[in-house]
Amino acid sequence: MTATKAAQNPEGALLPVREGEDPWTAEEVAELRAELTSEVERMQQAIAVVEAELAELLADGSDGAGRDPADVGSSNFERDQEMSLASNTREMLEQNVHALRLLDQGKYGTCESCGNPIGKARLQAFPRATMCVSCKQRAERR
Ligand SMILES: [Zn+2]
Repeated sequence: MTATKAAQNPEGALLPVREGEDPWTAEEVAELRAELTSEVERMQQAIAVVEAELAELLADGSDGAGRDPADVGSSNFERDQEMSLASNTREMLEQNVHALRLLDQGKYGTCESCGNPIGKARLQAFPRATMCVSCKQRAERR
């Protein structure tokens, strides 16, 4: 007999909490999932918009002959901004997708660095977090 993953992992039952926190309820996990899912959709749309704008900027740049150098400079600046926005958004999208995958695998909520619970309060504030606060701070200082 084969049990499905969902049956082995009823929503919430396996998500860890920190000491002193209440266990996750199915509703809270459902909210978390909805939040992550809508973030993924939002970021996919944002990336599509930025990429369309970038394509436009690049197209402008290729036939930039005879344009005011100041215009060219400002469109380069704009392009750089769009590019960093696109890569930030892509990174956040990745984190959300990754968090959703962990949630599906029943591994969500455990720090990927130290293996301790990330904590319910932190996850509700940052559903895409995959590290506890102290590991995150350590990683950022590196
Ligand atoms: Zn940790």
